[in-house]
Amino acid sequence: MKLIYNFVFKLGCGYKMLSKENIYDFPKIELHCHLDGSLRANSILEESHTNDVKLTDREKYNIENLLKAPKVNESLVSYLKSFDIPIRVMQNKKSIERFTFEVYEDASKENVKYLELRFAPSLHTKMGLNQSEVIEAAISGMKNATKKYDIEGNLILCCMKNLSEKIAIETIERGRDYLNHGVVAVDLAGPEEEGFSTKFINAMSLAKKYGYKITIHAGEVASGQNILDSIKMLDADRIGHGVRLYDNIEAYEIIKNRNIMLEVCPTSNIQTNAVSSLQSHPVVSYYNDKLNLCINTDNRTVSDTTLTEEYVIASKLLNMGKDDYNKMYSNTVKSSFADNSVKEFLLRKI
Ligand SMILES: [Zn+2]
Repeated sequence: MKLIYNFVFKLGCGYKMLSKENIYDFPKIELHCHLDGSLRANSILEESHTNDVKLTDREKYNIENLLKAPKVNESLVSYLKSFDIPIRVMQNKKSIERFTFEVYEDASKENVKYLELRFAPSLHTKMGLNQSEVIEAAISGMKNATKKYDIEGNLILCCMKNLSEKIAIETIERGRDYLNHGVVAVDLAGPEEEGFSTKFINAMSLAKKYGYKITIHAGEVASGQNILDSIKMLDADRIGHGVRLYDNIEAYEIIKNRNIMLEVCPTSNIQTNAVSSLQSHPVVSYYNDKLNLCINTDNRTVSDTTLTEEYVIASKLLNMGKDDYNKMYSNTVKSSFADNSVKEFLLRKI
């Protein structure tokens, strides 16, 4: 009812809905995008030819489809299968540098002005690289792009929930050398089990001590309790997805009172069956209750989307006009892990 009222009220005030062209032209910020889920198919084929990566003929022929998750009603676990080929190809410095550059290039071409790109260094050590070399290659690709295009960026290092805390600590130790020089934060990603936070208390406490910011995938397909644990046990600064926030009142109150940002990824949430339809996405009530949230792709290739398209979806769903967009933009800048000079640069864009 409130949504309908807002809609009628805004129309009555000569309110102008946003078009895809409007949104394409707007400066945009993305805080939740996975490098390995955002690769160009052609580049994967090229890299597989020039490196020792064995793709079968069937994989080469079907590459476009194999990199995309089904549109609807799968699960997070099946969604994650689309990362198999990217991970196999990203096992040397040159390909990691190239793919990182290309994601920033693609984002800049739709007027994304700041991108926090995330990846798990521990997944790229299967052919001899160590985690430091992986991180350096990604930083190099990002810096090549930010020099060439009007875009700024930082990297978030993912630790995998399905791997050990020891491996997470290794990522945190290696990434420390690059903290605030390309790396700003750590994340916990991968399949979401109930109570995963207890396994990573030492790792995330070490990360906080070193000065990392923390964002955690939580309440994506499991429970609001996981969101509460991520805040109370792991001291999360932001929450990835947070779809299930509605089922834990304590988590909801903390998120609202502390203005903790939810990184919302509409298309991905349909594909992982986190929500059954866009219309039933709880982001509508979160937005109307003025929770702090931003819109993201999650994965440009796996979800076959762009940030422009995700904001088109969100602007319809949330009935956003230009002022609403600008407000979300500035909230997103404020909740980003960028330093103050980059934040000021970004705020001057609107
Ligand atoms: Zn994600």
